[in-house]
Amino acid sequence: MHEMSLSQSMLEIIQEQAAVNGFQYVNIVRLEIGALSCVEPEALEFCFDSVSRGTVAEGATLEIVRVPGRAWCWNCSHLVEVERHGDPCPDCSRFEMQTRSGSEMKIKELEVA
Ligand SMILES: [Zn+2]
Repeated sequence: MHEMSLSQSMLEIIQEQAAVNGFQYVNIVRLEIGALSCVEPEALEFCFDSVSRGTVAEGATLEIVRVPGRAWCWNCSHLVEVERHGDPCPDCSRFEMQTRSGSEMKIKELEVA
C-alpha cells in the first residue's frame, strides 16, 4: 500500500529528528500533501498509527494540509492551480495540461515534547 510506505518514510524522518534534537514525544505532525498526490488522508492516519507504535511518534496527531497542484496549460500558456488529475484548465477549459507540482508530500512541522 502506498500510504504504508509513506508512513514508514515519515517515521524515519521523525526518528532522525528525534535523534538530532533529543525530544521524547511527538504530539502533532503537520503535513502538506499535494492535491495530485493520490494520498488518502484517512488511510495515511491509519498506517501511521500502526507503524509508529512503540516509537517517539506513538499516538501523534497528523494535521494534514492539502495544497493545490500546479499545471501548465499548453493552450493558453498559463500556470494554473488544479485540484485533481485530469481537471481542465480553469482559464480556457481545455485539457492540454502538464502537471508541474502537487504530487509531493512533506512534513512541515513537528510539535514535540
Ligand atoms: Zn488554459
